[in-house]
Amino acid sequence: MAAQIIDGRAITRQVHDEIREEAADLAARYGIRPGLATVLVGENPASVSYVTAKNRTCKELGMESFHHPLPAETSQEKLLTLIDQLNRDERVHGILVQLPLPQHIDESQVLLSIDPDKDVDGFHPVNVGRLMIGEPRFPPCTPAGIQELLLRSNTTIRGAEVVVVGRSNIVGKPIAIMLVQKADGADATVTICHTRTRHLEDHTRRAEILIVAAGRPAAISGSMIRPGATVIDVGVNRVGTTDSGKAKLVGDVDFASACEVAGKITPVPGGVGPMTIAMLMRNTLRAAKLKVGDRR
Ligand code: NAP
Repeated sequence: MAAQIIDGRAITRQVHDEIREEAADLAARYGIRPGLATVLVGENPASVSYVTAKNRTCKELGMESFHHPLPAETSQEKLLTLIDQLNRDERVHGILVQLPLPQHIDESQVLLSIDPDKDVDGFHPVNVGRLMIGEPRFPPCTPAGIQELLLRSNTTIRGAEVVVVGRSNIVGKPIAIMLVQKADGADATVTICHTRTRHLEDHTRRAEILIVAAGRPAAISGSMIRPGATVIDVGVNRVGTTDSGKAKLVGDVDFASACEVAGKITPVPGGVGPMTIAMLMRNTLRAAKLKVGDRR
């Protein structure tokens, strides 16, 4: 039987409608518009397209965006000076520095320089710590999008066996931490796998929810999936070009064979990807609300 597709684009539209409404409400009650500053160093094509999409979404949702494109050779000092200005700019509620940064810039120094109250990517150690102790302020966007997809596709998380393939700081580790918390939308039993995991398929075949963030096309095939499982494919791999000359994207899961076994599955594209930007917008809205003391 073919798996049900979790339509990330449709869910993103719902979330956008909610954010647009809340942003309008904030503007009506406090006279402020949530503002996101994006900083892009260099012209990496994937980064340019991500930042463009983030700025466009801000506008669509009635939020302000302030884009700061910098040349690839920008010094770390100059970048830190810009972040300092953005930290003090009243119109800016969230700051996003697009990663990766050029080699000559120390990424952790840059992330550390962002005011934790404006860290809408959730990568500042203060916000990572808050997430760890179950008091998240700005949950990182891709993991937050995954959790939202699970919730809005009516997947039972409480008590579920979750297996996460991948242990990066931006996807694997934070989603595992989020789903293991003693909280609504969590309370799962979580296993994290990586390249040193022995017999990966023994773990993945136990998973009622399988989250794959390996960055390898076809890292998971149908035979590694428990029948009826919910499969969230985070991977974005560029494999050649389509007939129209666009980059052809595939996930980390072999979609055809996975569909034969899984109960529900996210496609690539159109699954986790659109939700990541929606969660950035939600964090920016939250930052603006916190600024005016609105904790709803
Ligand atoms: P990453 O930093 O490269 O981490 C990949 C992780 O997967 C590592 O922990 C690695 O293990 C593990 N891994 C790789 N191959 C494996 C295998 N065959 N079996 C078991 N574990 C394996 O990648 P990332 O930043 O987390 O991103 C993962 C994927 O998600 C990428 O395709 C990325 O493009 C995509 N992504 C998508 C979004 C979105 O918005 N849709 C956002 C972020 C990332 P080791 O630690 O042992 O090396």
